[in-house]
Amino acid sequence: MPNTFDSKETFVEKLKETTSDMYGRDFEETNTIQRYRALGSLILEEAGVNWRITKNAVKKQQAKQLYYFSMEFLMGRLMTSNLMNLGVYDVVKDGLEDLGMDINELEELESDAGLGNGGLGRLAACFMDSLASLNYAGNGNCIRYRYGLFKQEIVNNEQVELPDCWLKYGNIWEVWKPHHNARVKFGGYVDGYMNENGKFVVHHHPDFVVRAVAYDEPIIGYHTPTTNTLRLWDAEVDEESVPSGQLNKYLQDVSALTTNVYPDDSTQEGKELRLKQEYFFVCAGIDAIITEHLRRYPSLDNFADKVAIQLNDTHPVLVIPELMRVLMDEYDYNWDDAWQIVTNTVAYTNHTVMAEALEKWPVETVKKLLPRLYMIIEEIDRRWKFDVDHRGLCAIYPNVAIIREGNVHMANLAIVGSHSVNGVAALHSKILVDDVFKDFARIYPDHFNNKTNGITHRRWLMYSNPQLTALLDDTIGTDYKTDPRQLEKLMDYVDDPVVQQRFLDVKKERKKILAKYIKDTLDIDVNIDSIFDCQAKRLHAYKRQLLNIMHVMYLYMRMKEDRNFRIYPRTFIFSAKAAPSYYEAKEIIKLINIVAQRVNNDLETKDFLRVVFIPNYSVSIAEILMNAADVSEQISTAGKEASGTGNMKYMMNGALTLGTLDGANVEIVGQVGEENAKIFGLHVEDINHLKHENAYNSREFYNQHPEVRKVVDSLHNGYWAQNPDEFRMIYNDLIMNNDEYFVLADFNAYMKAQQEVEAMYRDQSHWAKMMLINIAKSGYFSSDRTIQEYNDDIWHLTKLKY
Ligand SMILES: *Cc1c(COP(=O)(O)O)cnc(C)c1O
Repeated sequence: MPNTFDSKETFVEKLKETTSDMYGRDFEETNTIQRYRALGSLILEEAGVNWRITKNAVKKQQAKQLYYFSMEFLMGRLMTSNLMNLGVYDVVKDGLEDLGMDINELEELESDAGLGNGGLGRLAACFMDSLASLNYAGNGNCIRYRYGLFKQEIVNNEQVELPDCWLKYGNIWEVWKPHHNARVKFGGYVDGYMNENGKFVVHHHPDFVVRAVAYDEPIIGYHTPTTNTLRLWDAEVDEESVPSGQLNKYLQDVSALTTNVYPDDSTQEGKELRLKQEYFFVCAGIDAIITEHLRRYPSLDNFADKVAIQLNDTHPVLVIPELMRVLMDEYDYNWDDAWQIVTNTVAYTNHTVMAEALEKWPVETVKKLLPRLYMIIEEIDRRWKFDVDHRGLCAIYPNVAIIREGNVHMANLAIVGSHSVNGVAALHSKILVDDVFKDFARIYPDHFNNKTNGITHRRWLMYSNPQLTALLDDTIGTDYKTDPRQLEKLMDYVDDPVVQQRFLDVKKERKKILAKYIKDTLDIDVNIDSIFDCQAKRLHAYKRQLLNIMHVMYLYMRMKEDRNFRIYPRTFIFSAKAAPSYYEAKEIIKLINIVAQRVNNDLETKDFLRVVFIPNYSVSIAEILMNAADVSEQISTAGKEASGTGNMKYMMNGALTLGTLDGANVEIVGQVGEENAKIFGLHVEDINHLKHENAYNSREFYNQHPEVRKVVDSLHNGYWAQNPDEFRMIYNDLIMNNDEYFVLADFNAYMKAQQEVEAMYRDQSHWAKMMLINIAKSGYFSSDRTIQEYNDDIWHLTKLKY
């Protein structure tokens, strides 16, 4: 029998058959959703073959496996990526065409899997793609949230949050695995006794028990059989554990566990729910790993040789006490042996240096929800204190304590309980060692390392930018697809006027596509010959969208005042979601939209200046936005952005980085050279100095700089909004609260940098050369490189062989 994807004919045959089998009607009578689901089942069937081959290879080769524990996986859509990685995209496209269908139409039916907030979740998704593509057995572990983050709409210039119903048409990639399930226990109390062998035996009497049930998605590698697993846990009732007379409350509590990503954490109840979620997927994940290990090996003694666990930030840090619990309470290990296994297995990735973002939990909450784990955490901390004292460092203990001032400090637990701590860009990793965790670094200098983030060049270049891919294929061949550093070959062509022109044509084509999206969704006309200047990322004070929009306000006001002042036509494009309870961020969204409305409707300036806010930033938006950009805005306050990955997506598609020396921007400039990026603003050292010396006074600064003053005043003098209090919070943050993120301090440097960008853009041939250099040097930022480094330094997996 021929295989489904051997030819378009066999594919058409099989699709018709499957559709009518699934829906009991002739193919011609089925609708596009039914056809989409049938196509999904065919792809899943094909992936299933490789899934089996991979599992057998792991078993036969006794391969070590990685489990990537992450509270978030921002997968986006998978149809295109899966078809392309399987190498059957064209067969499907042609077959559908024969059936009178457009493959794009089916691709568009898929909802984004938006199981995350932003960069951290997208990193996990890129890592999954690279692991499989490099033939490593690396699996994801997360929660099957019924709703993604939220869907953002803009109503009266303000963000409105709507539910993100990503499972509306079902999830065609998941396979329900009811036999993979685990009981997860919360609350209640613990008692213990000495048994006849003198071993301390503990008994947990929980007051809430749920059953975690697995849904597996295949992660399909690029042109290889390797197909890994992303396991998403759903919560189900545990029939034996319904408290009597409380069925409805019990059902609600079970359901709440997996309702959505980041439940509102502004209330005590919401907070507890989040800690429950964290334990839920940790407990289920560990249970499944242990079960699988014991099917293959006689004991857990070799656990750390066969299993690596990477913690994506501290959200899954309960892996450490949970694995201790299982080893001691269920498999009779003593503390020291269990501790060896745990610390040799677990590694931790830090994603932030901002004190307020370092996770901590009140002791009372942990004790109440996870009484047995809390006992273990206390014991870890007790022994840690002995260890620190023994090293003669008792003076620094308060800085490294796990339990301190009534809170459990999750990052400290992660560092003590793991063998590797990494930051996500060189600068960030340095700040961890020199500043945030310097006392830990004294004790464990060998544990700290850097793994600069990356992005999968398959999704972010090959699949989302077929125009640029075709240009690259024609110019440098195709080996960059499996070895992204080969993009460097493009360096031989950066002065070639034909290649330069072709690049400019590609960019124009991508700008047309984005412009059409903007027209269709927002009914705004944008000029594709203007500079597309883009800032798309979560809205946060430290990312300084405010600096960007204040510069727009400055340009507009100046053009209104001075008829002789005109800029090269520019379209400022923003896209950003704000956390629902983050008022300052929402006010900035409002400001951007109000400025956009005014500017876009002003006949005098609209040929020069447009402002667009694209609602509902998501992976699918990013896929059409990044590659249409001329300028990539990466303007965070130096020292605050751990790495950024958006910056890499733009670079890889030929955009100029306009940025501060922060996160991976530093390494981008290192790759392309200072002359092929535009760096401005205060450095980390400058900012530390200003802070330590108390040398920054934003009000004084405002008084001394008339251009800054004019823009700030326009926030509350009725220029943009009739109500003078409309942007009061922004004004207060800048002037009354001393501008924590140095927006005003960097304003003049930013304005000047923008003028230089404009001058550079006017020389199109030179611009094209710079962009080609950016593309040529972007191979370093492929997540294939990142994964290879994690493996070489931390996981030590062997590639699967077939
Ligand atoms: C890449 C990406 C991010 C991360 O962007 P940064 O600029 O690095 O903050 C966030 N959200 C989505 C949807 C992305 O694709």
